[in-house]
Amino acid sequence: MRILIFGAPGVGKGTQAKILSSKLGIPHISTGDMLRSAVENKTEFGLKAKSFMDQGELVPDEIIAGIIKDRLNNPDSEMGFILDGIPRTIIQAELLDRIFIELNAGPLYLLKLDAADDIIIKRLSNRRQCNVCNSIVNLMDFEYKGDCPVCNAENSLIKRRDDEEEVIANRLKVYEESTAPVLDYYKEKAITVHIDGTQKIEAVTRNILEHIK
Ligand code: AMP
Repeated sequence: MRILIFGAPGVGKGTQAKILSSKLGIPHISTGDMLRSAVENKTEFGLKAKSFMDQGELVPDEIIAGIIKDRLNNPDSEMGFILDGIPRTIIQAELLDRIFIELNAGPLYLLKLDAADDIIIKRLSNRRQCNVCNSIVNLMDFEYKGDCPVCNAENSLIKRRDDEEEVIANRLKVYEESTAPVLDYYKEKAITVHIDGTQKIEAVTRNILEHIK
């Protein structure tokens, strides 16, 4: 089964993709995570991608092509995968079409998580990442006492540069302009399911599983 998790930044794609990956036993492939790790490791791709990411702009399609081809050719993707954060442009969707022809990974689902902009802005500005265990948490979900609620590291929660207010606004604009049109591209190519992304995490997962079982 091939799953594309689709929706605006901050709508919960990564959270749901992680849960689905463990429930369905197929890898979660996030271009955002791959790029952040490339930036951290100062690889050639990472050095090129950083300035785009810091400003909430899309990283050029050629860089994305370079990282996603290799990743999908990994044998762990043979039985299927969950793509999170890609495709973000029509060019990337066309690129994936070409890669998919060579794979035999079953039906293609597009799961579109829906939420209004004001909810997304509130979520993103309260989002933090632990600089010890890398978990993403939201200050709205627990009583924050200074420590990471996942690994208990002290004062380790930091705000991602692209979760600053002015960058969030740009990410939403880029999403509307370049990424939202990709939905139409899949009208005939994928089984598209709209999911209410404003529900609690478990309810969103339940809803998704009901549609894809
Ligand atoms: P994400 O974690 O998916 O929100 O991605 C964080 C940032 O990485 C985005 O704001 C973009 O700058 C970059 N990025 C991630 N995936 C892509 C992609 N498929 N195409 C272009 N840029 C991407």
